[in-house]
Amino acid sequence: MLTPVNESAHVDVAIVGAGPTGATAALAFARRGARVALIEGHPDAAQRFAGEWLHPPGVRTLRSLGIDVQALAARQGHGFAIFGGDGEDPVCLPYDSGCSIARVHEELVFHLREQACGNSLVQYLPHHVFSALEGNTLQLLDRSHDRRVSLRAERIIGADGRGSKVRAALGGPLESEQLSYMAGLELEDAPLPFEGLGHVFLGGPGPALLYRIDERRVRACLDIPVACPTSARRSEAVYAAFRSALPAQLEPSLRRAVAKPFAWASTGVRTRTFYGRDKAWLAGDAIGHVHPLSGVGITLGVMDAEAASRTTSLEEYRRERDAHVAEMLASVLYLAFSRTDASALRIRRGVLRMLRSSAAERRRTMRLLTGEDRASTSFADAFLHATGHVVLTGAESAVARRQSWSEWARQLRVDVGWLKWPLHAWAPALGAISRRGAGSRPSVAAPTRSAKTTNEWRSLS
Ligand SMILES: Cc1cc2nc3c(=O)[nH]c(=O)nc-3n(C[C@H](O)[C@H](O)[C@H](O)COP(=O)(O)OP(=O)(O)OC[C@H]3O[C@@H](n4cnc5c(N)ncnc54)[C@H](O)[C@@H]3O)c2cc1C
Repeated sequence: MLTPVNESAHVDVAIVGAGPTGATAALAFARRGARVALIEGHPDAAQRFAGEWLHPPGVRTLRSLGIDVQALAARQGHGFAIFGGDGEDPVCLPYDSGCSIARVHEELVFHLREQACGNSLVQYLPHHVFSALEGNTLQLLDRSHDRRVSLRAERIIGADGRGSKVRAALGGPLESEQLSYMAGLELEDAPLPFEGLGHVFLGGPGPALLYRIDERRVRACLDIPVACPTSARRSEAVYAAFRSALPAQLEPSLRRAVAKPFAWASTGVRTRTFYGRDKAWLAGDAIGHVHPLSGVGITLGVMDAEAASRTTSLEEYRRERDAHVAEMLASVLYLAFSRTDASALRIRRGVLRMLRSSAAERRRTMRLLTGEDRASTSFADAFLHATGHVVLTGAESAVARRQSWSEWARQLRVDVGWLKWPLHAWAPALGAISRRGAGSRPSVAAPTRSAKTTNEWRSLS
C-alpha cells in the first residue's frame, strides 16, 4: 500500500494526472530509475466516455515500456472503413503495419495505472488535486484528509487533460474551440460490416465512429456539431438522425441503445503549440487535442509520455513531439465530414474519390493520421491531390451545366479557401528554406507554426 505524501516530500518527477498519458509517463520515468509521484485528483473521472482506440504507434510505445498489450487489448483492429453515405462502396484503410487495440476507457486507464503502480519507484497519490506551482514545489489538496500538502520535484509533468491546471499555472494559452457533442452508445449484438476495423459512417448531422469494444458490444460515437439545435441531442432525434446513416443491420441495436440513458462528451480542438516551461512540461491533452474522429489522442499522449522520460531539454521534447500534420489532417477531415455546405460536400467527394482510386493514397492517409508520417509536404501533397481534382471537376461541371461564370467564380472562391490547409502545412518548410537562404522564396504569406493558435484554426475552418 502506498504511503500518503507529507509536507517534506521530495521526488525526482511529479506527474499530475493519472489518465492514459500520466500513467504511461509514470511507468516510463520509473523504468529509467526516477522516483515518481503520480498525482490523481479524481480517480473515478476515468469512468467517463472518452478514448478507447489506440493506433499501432501508441501500441508499440506501450510495448516498449514492458506493457503486455495482449492483456490490455479487449479487441485488436487493422484499420478503418469509411462509408461515404453516397451509395458508393466503402473505402477500407488498413494500417501499414501493426494492430490497434480497443478497450473501454475506464478499463484501459485502470490497467495502465495498475502497471505504473506495480513499479516500486512509483508512488500513487489518489484524491490529491494539484492547485498551484511555486518554483519546483507543487501545492496539492489531499481530498481524503481535507488538508493541503506540498511536494518538491526536479521535473514536473502536467498530464492533467484538456482543462490542465498545470498549463494554466505555467501561463500557457487556454483558449480552445468547441466543435461538437458526441453521444457514446453501446450497441449490443450489433454485427459490424467489417469486423476488426473501425467504421466511419457519413450522412448523419456529424460523422459516426463505430468500433467493437468486446465480444458483445460495439461503441457508437455519434457526433452532433455545435451548430445543431439543442433538440438534436434528444434521444429520439439522435435515433432519427443516425438511423439512415448506419447500415440497416445496426438499426435494432441502435433503437435499443437510445432507449437507455447514454453518455455525452463535448469535443473540441486546441493546437499543440505550448509544451511547458523550464522543468515543468506538458503531455497528452494538456498540450492540445483534436476531434476524436481520428482516434489519435491517446496515441499522442502515450508517445508524449515516453518521449518526456527520454529527452533532455524542452526544445528537444517539443521538436520530437510535433504533431502538426496529424492535427491538421484530423481537423480537415472533421470539417469535410461534418459541414454540409456545397463546398464541403465537394471536398468530401474529392477525398473519398482519391482514397477509392489509389492504394498508395490510402496507405499515406493512414500514416499521416496515426502520426507515422509527419512530413508537412506529404499532407499538403495528399490534400492537393484531393482538392485539385475538385476544382477541376467543378470547372468541367460548370461548363456542362451552363453555370454562369459569376456563379462558378463564387464556387471556386469557396473551394480554393480549402487550399489554406496545405499552405499552412507548407509554412514551416517554406520558413526553413528562407532561413537557409536556399533559392528564391515562394510568394506565399505563410503564417509561422509557432504563431498558429486556435483562432487561426477558426479562420481556416
Ligand atoms: C468522446 C471522445 C472519444 C474519444 N475517442 C478517442 C479514441 O477512440 N482514441 C483516442 O486515442 N482518443 C480518443 N479521445 C481522446 C482521448 O480521450 C484523450 O486524448 C485522452 O483521454 C487524453 O489522455 P490524458 O491522460 O492526456 O488526459 P485525460 O484522459 O483527460 O486524463 C487527465 C487526468 O488528470 C486528472 N486531473 C485533472 N486535473 C487534475 C488536477 N488538478 N489534479 C490532479 N489530477 C487532475 C483527471 O482526473 C484525469 O484522470 C476521445 C475523446 C472524447 C471526448
